[in-house]
Amino acid sequence: MRVVATERPSPSHASGVGPSLSRNAGEGLYFAECPILPIESDPRSDDLVQPFQIDPFALRGRLVRLGPTVDRILSQHDYPEPVAAILGEAIVLAVLLAGALKYDGIFTLQTKSDGPVRLIVADVSTEGAVRGYAQYDRDRLDQVSAQAGSSPSVPELIGSGYIAFTVDQGEHTERYQGIVELIGATLAECAQHYFRQSEQIQAGIKLSVARSGDNGAWRGGGLMLQRVPPEGGYTVIADDVEDGWRRAMVLMSSATPAELVDPELSPHRLLFRLFHDEGVRVYPTHPIEARCRCSSERIGRILRSFPADDIEELRKDKVISVTCEFCNTRYEFAGEDFAPLASA
Ligand SMILES: [Zn+2]
Repeated sequence: MRVVATERPSPSHASGVGPSLSRNAGEGLYFAECPILPIESDPRSDDLVQPFQIDPFALRGRLVRLGPTVDRILSQHDYPEPVAAILGEAIVLAVLLAGALKYDGIFTLQTKSDGPVRLIVADVSTEGAVRGYAQYDRDRLDQVSAQAGSSPSVPELIGSGYIAFTVDQGEHTERYQGIVELIGATLAECAQHYFRQSEQIQAGIKLSVARSGDNGAWRGGGLMLQRVPPEGGYTVIADDVEDGWRRAMVLMSSATPAELVDPELSPHRLLFRLFHDEGVRVYPTHPIEARCRCSSERIGRILRSFPADDIEELRKDKVISVTCEFCNTRYEFAGEDFAPLASA
C-alpha cells in the first residue's frame, strides 16, 4: 500500500484526483489513500515535532521523533543505562509539551525527588534547541537495578518528589510554573497526572526510548493527544465526541514502543497507521536539535556573581575550572577577572 499526504478531499473531488503536498494556510494536510505521491516525500523523519489533528473530534496531537538529537545528549554523559533511558524519556516529554505551548524563550521540565535519580532537567528553546542532564546516586541505583531489572518504574528509579514545568520568556516577563507530585509508574503517567490536576485538560501521552542499529545509537519517540474544544463548539454531538476521544486513546495506545522509535517507520506512516480511519491532518514539522546554551562569557558572568570566598574554593593551581552539567564542556578561567583560558 502506498500512502500520500494530500489536501482534504472535498465531496466534489472525493475520487482523489490532484493530490498534492501543497497546503492552504492553517488548513494542514490530510492523509488519504491515493496511488500517486509516496508519503516518504517528507525529507526529514528524525529530530522533529510533527503536529497533527484528528477531526471531527478536535483532538490535537504531536508526534516527536528524536534520532541524533537524543543520542548526542545522552552520549555527552557516561550515565548508567537506566539513567540515560529515563533522561531520554524526559527529553522526549519536554519536546512534546513544549510543542503544545506558544512561548518565546525556554521551556524546562524538571524532576526533584528522593530516589536514586534525584534530579532530571530537560529544556527546549523556542528555536528547538534541546539539552538535558540527570543527577543520581550510583550505589542506590545499583541496588534498584539488582531488584527491578532493566526497566525500573518511576517510584523505584526517581522515588517521591515533584515534576515541574517552567516557561521562562526572559527578563521583565512573568515566569510560568506548573508543579505537581510525581504520581505514576512512568514519566508519561506522571505528565498525564499533571494535566488532570493542574490544567484540567485531558491528555494522553506515550514515550519510548531505546538503542537501535549496529552502533546502539539512542532513539526517542513520543505521542501526545489532547482534547481542545474547538472555537464555536463541536460539529458533532457530545456522545460522539466522548467516543472519539476514547477511540483515539485506544488507537494511540496501540502504538508499540518499537514503532515510536523505528527509523524505518516515517512519522506520516506511523500516524496513518494509527489514525487513518478517523482522518488525520498533519501540519508543518518543527525541527529539533541538541544544542547547549553555555559559553565562556555566560559562565564567566555567573562566576563574577559568586561571593569571593566561594570562588577561592573553586580555584586550583590559580585556575578555576567549571564543567557545564548539560553538555559536559569544561571551561577554565584564570586571574581575578576570570579571563577565559580554554574550553575542553
Ligand atoms: Zn553546556
